[in-house]
Amino acid sequence: MSKLVLPHGGGRLRPLLVEGEQRAAELRRAEGLKTVPMTSRESSDLVMLAMGAYTPLEGFMGHDDWQRVCREMKLAGGLFWPIPITLSCRQDLADSIAPGEDVGLTDEESGAVMAVMTVEEKYMIDRQLECSEVYRTTDADHPGVEKVMTQGEVNLAGPVRALSEGVYPRAFPDLYLRPAETRTRFEAQGWSKVAAFQTRNPMHRSHEYLAKVAVEVCDGLLIHQVLGKLKPGDIPADVRVQAINALVENYFVSGTVIQAGYPIEMRYAGPREALLHALFRQNFGCSHLVVGRDHAGVGDYYGPFDAHDIFDELEPCSLETVPLKMDVTFYCDVCRGTATNRTCPHSEDHRLTISGTRLRAMFANHQSVPFEFSRPEVLEVLQAHYDSLK
Ligand SMILES: [Zn+2]
Repeated sequence: MSKLVLPHGGGRLRPLLVEGEQRAAELRRAEGLKTVPMTSRESSDLVMLAMGAYTPLEGFMGHDDWQRVCREMKLAGGLFWPIPITLSCRQDLADSIAPGEDVGLTDEESGAVMAVMTVEEKYMIDRQLECSEVYRTTDADHPGVEKVMTQGEVNLAGPVRALSEGVYPRAFPDLYLRPAETRTRFEAQGWSKVAAFQTRNPMHRSHEYLAKVAVEVCDGLLIHQVLGKLKPGDIPADVRVQAINALVENYFVSGTVIQAGYPIEMRYAGPREALLHALFRQNFGCSHLVVGRDHAGVGDYYGPFDAHDIFDELEPCSLETVPLKMDVTFYCDVCRGTATNRTCPHSEDHRLTISGTRLRAMFANHQSVPFEFSRPEVLEVLQAHYDSLK
């Protein structure tokens, strides 16, 4: 019997992807259905549903789930859930859809059919309420709020049969692991306590420190990359993987780390999103999640430790997966090592920090990056990447 944490809700994993003949039949049927385009956020949620990461959801949420999730972080039935997972639709299209009707869900950008959904409910939402509860702001400059405020007027809800996981399985064949697959790998390693470390970046010494703190207290570490959309200037996933491999091969004990990626589009909802990150890590089989300073935050909408504190406000048994709360890390030249505010008593003047902008300039000019900041094997991979852009 598995010693890993149980999927959220305590039952079995519930991937919504249908395969084989059923998939072929649904795809043929979808050709005759009305189609509802999904925004990039909704498409990425659909893939999360398809792979089982949002277990035990069976589709996009209805009004009662939406409202209770916003207000109380619970589904209508009482199960803990911190962020609404909903599908929006233009008013005129929603008006044309009858209750009980099946519709095809397509990716707005590619036009590809991703799923068939039985529309059980159409409802309007109070967007201000969603934003103020979930994002703690209604400021339209917040990227997550902006998406809620500009989405279609009506939400459609109902059970989903997912027909596609988008580009991810083909684009990232070694990295795209479903919750059932990470669990199988953890069990093969004999792990029961597994920490997830979320990253959108290559790992420098500060990330290495956080990851190693997690390895000290768990059996193994899942380095879990966000494979969603990139911003200009981001390092592509294949380069990040190479850089992380260079770090893991040279500086971690063999058999303590597994790398994987998953398809979420960040909402930047700060504390509420940290809870969602912990929830789906439980589905992946992780008992712990490294939660750093301002986890999943953006700008100055959240306090640096809001994403830590919110875990202390949960009712007992909301989640099995617990946070490893970490402060920001840096190299201190008095300590002569990597440390955090909790472990280094020295002043800012002794601390080495390099911003992303400055680091990119250093690569562009072939300046040497201090070894206290990053490992030479990692820097070599990144330098080659920046050179290839010229
Ligand atoms: Zn120090």
